[in-house]
Amino acid sequence: MRILIVEDDADLAGRLRTRLVREGYAVDVAANGIDGAHLGATEAYDAAVLDLGLPGKPGLAVLRDWRAAGNTLPVLILTARDGWAERVEGLQAGADDYLGKPFHVEELLARLQALLRRAAPAQAPELRVGGWRLDEGRQCLVAEDGTEQALTGTEFRLLRYFMRHPGAVLSKTHLSEHVYDYDSERDSNVIEVYVRRLRTLLGPDRIETRRGQGYVFRA
Ligand code: CA
Repeated sequence: MRILIVEDDADLAGRLRTRLVREGYAVDVAANGIDGAHLGATEAYDAAVLDLGLPGKPGLAVLRDWRAAGNTLPVLILTARDGWAERVEGLQAGADDYLGKPFHVEELLARLQALLRRAAPAQAPELRVGGWRLDEGRQCLVAEDGTEQALTGTEFRLLRYFMRHPGAVLSKTHLSEHVYDYDSERDSNVIEVYVRRLRTLLGPDRIETRRGQGYVFRA
């Protein structure tokens, strides 16, 4: 899953990026409202963290533009600690959640995960496939007897995306857009290689190939 952070505080943005990458998300950072608005309108994200106080274009204007264009990207806004009026305006403009500064990164992470769960069709907090459970914290598969199967970063990101969207036809391009960040070289053919590896782990029938369309994951 891919997250957009729009935050001009470079230190905060850097800390958030590091933490989210460690949690297995692909992350892009925009340091001003103009770049943020553009990325959010043109790239495929699963959620955005949007600061309201931004140079170039205020966060509220960014959010209003996205919503006016029909963009339903889940958005968590960052507001001043005592900014209740800001929070109300943000929610009215279409924010899905908010967090006042300063905040603990743990809380941001929990709220973001809740937003992603609400947005994805598979809402169960526990992701299961066959006899496996996906441990999102430790980024591995765990069998019922406790046996663990390690996953590489890309395997984890791809499998989690599949598990959050069971039954949907997902093209290679779509998958690579949600699994890699903007700066990664996005060769959608690499997705084939990872799908093959996931089939080796989960059995050949879990990921069905639809010729010319993409893949369908069966939970
Ligand atoms: Ca700011």
